[in-house]
Amino acid sequence: MRTFDFDLFVIGGGSGGVRAARMAAQRGARVALAECAELGGTCVNVGCIPKKLYSYAAGYAEAFEEATGFGWDLGEPRFDWNRLKSNRAREIQRLNEVYRSLLEGAGATLVQGWAQLADAHTVQVGERRFTAQHVLIATGGMPFVPDLPGREHVVVSDAMFDLDPFPKRLLVVGGGYIACEFASIFNGLGAEVVQLQRSAHLLSDFDEDIREFLAKEMRRAGVDIRFNAEIASIRRLDSGLCAILSRGQRVEADAILFATGRVPNTQGMGLEAAGIVLDAQGRVEVDARYRSSVPSVYAVGDVSTRQQLTPVALAEAMAVVDTLFGTGKRRLDYDYTPTAVFTHPNIGTCGYTEAAARARFGAVTLYSSEFRALRHTLSGSAERTFMKLIVDKASDRVVGLHMVGPDAGEIVQGFAVAMRAGATKAMFDSTIGIHPTVAEEFVTMREPMPG
Ligand code: NDP
Repeated sequence: MRTFDFDLFVIGGGSGGVRAARMAAQRGARVALAECAELGGTCVNVGCIPKKLYSYAAGYAEAFEEATGFGWDLGEPRFDWNRLKSNRAREIQRLNEVYRSLLEGAGATLVQGWAQLADAHTVQVGERRFTAQHVLIATGGMPFVPDLPGREHVVVSDAMFDLDPFPKRLLVVGGGYIACEFASIFNGLGAEVVQLQRSAHLLSDFDEDIREFLAKEMRRAGVDIRFNAEIASIRRLDSGLCAILSRGQRVEADAILFATGRVPNTQGMGLEAAGIVLDAQGRVEVDARYRSSVPSVYAVGDVSTRQQLTPVALAEAMAVVDTLFGTGKRRLDYDYTPTAVFTHPNIGTCGYTEAAARARFGAVTLYSSEFRALRHTLSGSAERTFMKLIVDKASDRVVGLHMVGPDAGEIVQGFAVAMRAGATKAMFDSTIGIHPTVAEEFVTMREPMPG
């Protein structure tokens, strides 16, 4: 029988890769993991974690304003961008070390460098070659910037956390998660933000009422959102950068963020030469067990998945470890995956949009509620909250739950459990609310929306 250096060689030390390596090593497998940058991948270094920290920072601007209505008098608040940057960097460095010690503690071997697949069982990192019975590709994705004159002047989300100096005027291009979150964050931190979206709405996969409500609230908060707007070229001026739109208008800014989608990291890794089939988007094609077209090679997370979310990568990684070193019974069900967009205010969502529910279930009943939260009766803020439930008429099951409002991500997480358990509208109605909260509104919606 052929012997290998390792049972599992993981390429990529982000959320999915580290989870797989650690769990496999804990089960006694001989595991190596190659990473060419810091451990933790996009989520820890340039994604979820620093983004959420900056989102908290942005939230203080509103909190200071609102405090006055509750009797507080504060001096003129001042914001120190450099202090935020260095505090964030220190925390991220701490997390990098936590990841390292988790891996080493579990007995995995860390290999620093760029890994390439030499064949179905061989990984090359620099001059070194390692053989493995199984290989897991977990290399994630990276921002995509379309080709246009002046492209070299723009930044992508990875660079937003360390911009120097703080951009007083920020132009954000795109209408997806990343564009909306950074537009909200920098608006909160005090930048003048213009957001350009090529189509007529933000967040195209979200429920229509939700995305319209969010755009209204983001505008109210100060983001200048412009729809049906595309950039033809970008020029550098003495006073900053100038984007020339396809209809001739100009927008000047100190920094231009392109958040126009992400592409999988599959280039320069020898994947196709090793026989791995990629789909039209360049993602590794996998079967229901995350196995690629080469039977010894698996892939999880953004490099292969259709739901680019950290918890999805983690769950996929654990399913692969179970397939290779466990019972083989663990399966992932992507239905009712909850998600949040950390805009100001947040979106929290679980299940089907109204359009998707109509297409899937036919007749649906809709419930919605829009209100000013109790907090804002004294805060003076005009911010409003919107909630929507979509119920399959035939089964009474709640198949869509959506919210725009403070802490929507926190609120929707709990409801996602109920939805996965198949909760009906009657169960929602029979649940006692927690008073006074915003979340109680989800169990007190009685009157269906007309139509
Ligand atoms: P998205 O795919 O969500 O959004 C891309 C945006 O860019 C869309 O608005 C799209 O417009 C626009 N766009 C695409 N190509 C062009 C182009 N050539 N010119 C102009 N505009 C263009 O990508 P993101 O990068 O925002 O996020 C990637 C993924 O990362 C998300 O789908 C999400 O899964 C994940 N993520 C999750 C977060 C969370 O959980 N909170 C946070 C951040 C990211 P159109 O709508 O017209 O197609």
